[in-house]
Amino acid sequence: MRTPLIVGNWKMNKTASEAAAFVRELASRLTAGSQVDIVLVPPFTALESVRAALGPSSTIELGAQNLHWETQGAFTGEVSGPMLRDVGCTYVIVGHSERRTLFGERDGDIQKKVRAALVHGLRPILCIGESLQERETDRTDVIITAQLTAALAGLTAEELSTVTIAYEPVWAIGTGRAATIEQAVAVHRSIRACAAQGWSHSTASRMRILYGGSVTPQNAESLLFTEEIDGALVGGACLKVDSFATIIAAAQNKPLH
Ligand code: PEP
Repeated sequence: MRTPLIVGNWKMNKTASEAAAFVRELASRLTAGSQVDIVLVPPFTALESVRAALGPSSTIELGAQNLHWETQGAFTGEVSGPMLRDVGCTYVIVGHSERRTLFGERDGDIQKKVRAALVHGLRPILCIGESLQERETDRTDVIITAQLTAALAGLTAEELSTVTIAYEPVWAIGTGRAATIEQAVAVHRSIRACAAQGWSHSTASRMRILYGGSVTPQNAESLLFTEEIDGALVGGACLKVDSFATIIAAAQNKPLH
């Protein structure tokens, strides 16, 4: 059994005070003791206020949107793994398609970031996904496999067990056009098969694979009730308490497979 995981990626949204208000409202809306892991991923500047608003006993975890692979030094504008741990992060998103396309991150950078996250006790959420052109030219599987094997190269089975994969088709992110269940299931199966081939079946079967790309309160149930989809990485719909709480509730109702 893989515990469902819902991750809210705030991207470059919300000030520290807006973040704290959001967290208090969200916490008041959630029902206790449900079998869903929740991770909030605010911008760096709001990490501390989200941590404070969550309080020491919250089960909601904190994640960062990116990290640098070095520990410290002359890297203006960057943030390292130990800094993220110190502010309370337990997760970090690595290789988001916006980092790849807007900021030129390559597979080699992403591999170093995954390794740095693991070295510093952070659980990487590795984003992979094909562009529309790659899908339309039947290259989805090749692209997914290449991104996956490059980013995870050299990891032990134990290390891999702390990695979450987020399948995020680039054409579905922020477009309102989510993948169909069939499209998502096919890619999730390829990802698990690729992990089984590289490591083992039991390692692959424990790995959580999330879907991301235009997840909304309207489509969350159908996506999350699908056996192969272990949770969601949510962008736009995580910025409003109502819609994010509805998506979390859908994960809480996910049938046991
Ligand atoms: C994302 O940026 O990871 C994402 C999935 O965004 P959205 O939900 O807005 O498509």
